[in-house]
Amino acid sequence: MKGSDKLIESSGKMPKKERTSETERAKTNLRKGLLKARQQKRLDKVNWTKEQGYYLYQKALESKSGPLVTIEGKDYKMLSSYDYLGLIGNTTIENAAINAIKMYGTGAGGVRLLTGTNKLHLDLEEKLAAFKGTQSSITFSSGYLANLAVLSSLMDSSDLALVDSKIHQSTIDACKLTGIPHRRYDHNDPNSLEDYLKRFTPKKRVLVISEGMFSMDGDICILKEIVDLKNKYGALLMIDEAHSFGVLGKQGRGVNSHFNISPDEIDIFTGSLSKAIPANGGYVAASNKITSFLQHGSSPYIFSAAMGPASVASVLTALSILETDTERHKKLWGNTLYLRIELQKLGYNTGLSTTPILPIMLGNDEVALNLSKSLYDHGILATPVIFPAVSKNESRLRLCVTAAQERAFLEEIVQVFRKLAN
Ligand code: PMP
Repeated sequence: MKGSDKLIESSGKMPKKERTSETERAKTNLRKGLLKARQQKRLDKVNWTKEQGYYLYQKALESKSGPLVTIEGKDYKMLSSYDYLGLIGNTTIENAAINAIKMYGTGAGGVRLLTGTNKLHLDLEEKLAAFKGTQSSITFSSGYLANLAVLSSLMDSSDLALVDSKIHQSTIDACKLTGIPHRRYDHNDPNSLEDYLKRFTPKKRVLVISEGMFSMDGDICILKEIVDLKNKYGALLMIDEAHSFGVLGKQGRGVNSHFNISPDEIDIFTGSLSKAIPANGGYVAASNKITSFLQHGSSPYIFSAAMGPASVASVLTALSILETDTERHKKLWGNTLYLRIELQKLGYNTGLSTTPILPIMLGNDEVALNLSKSLYDHGILATPVIFPAVSKNESRLRLCVTAAQERAFLEEIVQVFRKLAN
């Protein structure tokens, strides 16, 4: 008996229409809490990776994130932590966070604009601006929100965002959520960027957006060329320094410092305080005019809680460490070069990487999941990045090098990769 026959039998009536309308189907789905086909497909893929024993996401750490982490009582070598400078667990930072909690409590008690601002927020914003060499800065509770704040409040549907094709999802989400038209120029390709600038300026107000250090591929943006083009065509420029902040340039001051370009050439810097800086939060570093406007015109500042005191104090202390410490950077870049070259010698494809973000390009999801699982079986946690986080056929493992990794540790990692390459 067919399903539709069953319906006839139970109700005694023929259903009005064989095919339900889109609206009816949507209503039924909502009522039943069902997913749409493409959502279900995504969940099916997750379930498949679980069934195959490939699901290495959301592993609950029972320790601090560092070179060694504990999972289910066992030690694993961590190879995918963003703690580039090895500052997680730094006792000076931890003590500053504890003191801030004692002085200001565990929560800010509100949004920044109303009652959530404390003295530490102001000290931090002053220090961040000085570190970046901008007139001013403003903080948010995450880097994601910093990007959303800029795009949702400074841009509208009459403008255009010209984004690098490998830009982080937070920027794409911000454009989509707030209805800002956006076009993707070819990754780090000045000709492609210029083609778009020719087409759209000066008719439209154009904001060019790139990342300082690309989060998935680990290459550095072509800042000189971008600055020249934005000046030539009268566009605005925003650089997301989520990964380059603390890593690139003198004392980790960022991608403009790396290229010896004045910060004045970049209209807006955004960044995260959860990677090289071992806390939580995000920032925008820009002119007084822009940060004042964001304070009064951006929803993530007005309607979302302020960074917590422990995070603010951690960032302040981490920046003081960066101002004086050169050893961590030396070690980070030494480790970066070592691991990249050793993996390349073994035949692994590290893609475009020139920085501590070290992808191992594997092409297909299953190969990436498989390698990640084999590494886990050898006591190494290196998470796979698969579609839709990256384009189809660009699945990879994304390794992160840090200053906390010792040479012997990296040699042991290389040994395992050698074994798995054979
Ligand atoms: N921008 C980029 C390039 C990122 O990689 C990330 C986070 N991975 C963010 C923004 C968001 O930062 P946060 O985690 O602080 O929200």
